[in-house]
Amino acid sequence: AKAAGKDRAVVYEAALRETRLRRLAIVERLRTALLTDEITVHYQPIVTLRTGRVDAVEALVRWQALPPDAFIPAAEDSGLIVPLGEQVLRAACRAAAPWHARHGTSVTVNVSPRQLREPDFAVTVRRALLDSGLPATALILEITEGVLVGSALTTAHLNELRQDGVRVAVDDFGTGYSSLAYLRDLPIDILKIDRSFLRPGPASEPMIRAVVDLAHSLGLVTVTEGVETAEQAAVLVALGCDRGQGWHFGRPSPAEQVTALLETGTGA
Ligand code: C2E
Ligand code: CA
Ligand code: CA
Ligand code: CA
Repeated sequence: AKAAGKDRAVVYEAALRETRLRRLAIVERLRTALLTDEITVHYQPIVTLRTGRVDAVEALVRWQALPPDAFIPAAEDSGLIVPLGEQVLRAACRAAAPWHARHGTSVTVNVSPRQLREPDFAVTVRRALLDSGLPATALILEITEGVLVGSALTTAHLNELRQDGVRVAVDDFGTGYSSLAYLRDLPIDILKIDRSFLRPGPASEPMIRAVVDLAHSLGLVTVTEGVETAEQAAVLVALGCDRGQGWHFGRPSPAEQVTALLETGTGA
């Protein structure tokens, strides 16, 4: 039994080493990619559920080599998420400036915890806004649950930017471990309900209703993610959710396609 345990430890160590090597390889390729035009940004519509109007678009990074879930963790570990995130932010502000001028569309950008710990994060955001001409009120920063808890610097950055008019959204709400108290205490404007809440089951609707009601009582706007069908959209309207995002309303697409979508004025 002892020998088997040792064998298992050896196998485990080998697997761990392989994961680390794979991550290192990803980081090296990503470092080069950042210097070329391999990194692009796609945009997915977020609509007012009652009307279908596109209120905002979410900027989602694209790299032909790998999907985001496969390289964002490596980018976070290595710190490369800082230059990568800035590149996405700047591209998103630039793309959204004419959309906002013509249609009033906002843009929402994912920000990793690592970026929020940079001392000059607020400066970086302000510079992206100034250089693009996008007003602060048209920018939303998406952070994940838990990021906010216990970090004075992060809260200070977000408070500063909110004074300019930037809004803050909590992403993937309901997947983390944070308590509900931070919803009341922290600098946020929008709650994005994770798509796992839409998974069919007896608890699905009551849970969404409870989260939407709680969010509204705190003055937050609610967005449900992962809306794939008209039926889901209709249920969300009935539950009082404000906005929706998902394949039913549109897939993430290149900027040119979003320009065309906004011109035709339909979200679905
Ligand atoms: P997220 O922020 O929760 O983004 C939503 C993800 O759900 C996107 O995956 C999107 O393509 C996908 N999605 C949208 N609608 C539907 C739907 O109806 N059904 C299903 N099943 N999925 C849908 P994507 O683009 O692969 O991004 C994955 C994650 O990678 C994002 O999750 C986010 O956490 C991270 N990410 C993407 N871009 C960035 C970025 O620029 N910076 C940072 N820090 N993270 C990013
Ligand atoms: Ca997001
Ligand atoms: Ca999300
Ligand atoms: Ca996510």
